Amino acid sequence: MAGNWKMYKTPAETVAFFEKFRPLVEKSEHCEIVICPPFTNLTSAVEAVKGSPIHIGAQNIAWAKEGAFTGEISGPMLHAAGATHVIIGHSERRQYFGETDATVLKRTLSALEFGLTPIVCVGERLEEREGGRTEELLKSQFAGGIASLSEQQFAKIVIAYEPVWAIGTGKTATPEIAADAHRVIRGQVREKFGKAAADSVRILYGGSVKGDNVKSLMAQPEIDGSLVGGASLDPVSFASIVNF
Ligand code: PEP
Repeated sequence: MAGNWKMYKTPAETVAFFEKFRPLVEKSEHCEIVICPPFTNLTSAVEAVKGSPIHIGAQNIAWAKEGAFTGEISGPMLHAAGATHVIIGHSERRQYFGETDATVLKRTLSALEFGLTPIVCVGERLEEREGGRTEELLKSQFAGGIASLSEQQFAKIVIAYEPVWAIGTGKTATPEIAADAHRVIRGQVREKFGKAAADSVRILYGGSVKGDNVKSLMAQPEIDGSLVGGASLDPVSFASIVNF
């Protein structure tokens, strides 16, 4: 269960969040818990979760190790800050900051090189869903990005299916719609990396997941977890999702 805080919270607000959140999930051993705060809160978040089962992730990673890349944060920097995961190719990055399947692949390779678990996002926009092109889009995002990983590299990634029309809109995909999309993605994994990889890859669903819909989504065998935006900002609400 991963929380994406997007561009919310200061370091002080991060500390306050974990004070409330930690005791609510201290005994939650059924899943991995990851919170991805803004870069500026990584160290305070890592400090705040010490000794708990909570992991801290970043929301992006540079594809280079270091260099003249103003505004970017590299894998070694994230690793040194204590991050263990990183979200890559979130639709907001694709939509507003020119992220492409090719740069998603480069960032994923960088995350793997520096020991971070990539959470790679894919998902269709409303016009693609309404135009009946969801499957085509998911296949092309897969082929243009993570399909180029080696089998060993692929075994270390997590995929997040996030239909863009469901992110931050309050419109959740029905469990059946989400599961259908997960089947398409898993089918691509099977074709490219084989059955064992398809059976073991974790595919998270993201898009307006809340305490009151998480159970029905998680009841789908295809759905292995959730990537949660808005509802991860509140400790009680994210804990209710973790402990569904
Ligand atoms: C997200 O940011 O990845 C997300 C799924 O947002 P929300 O849960 O707010 O739709």
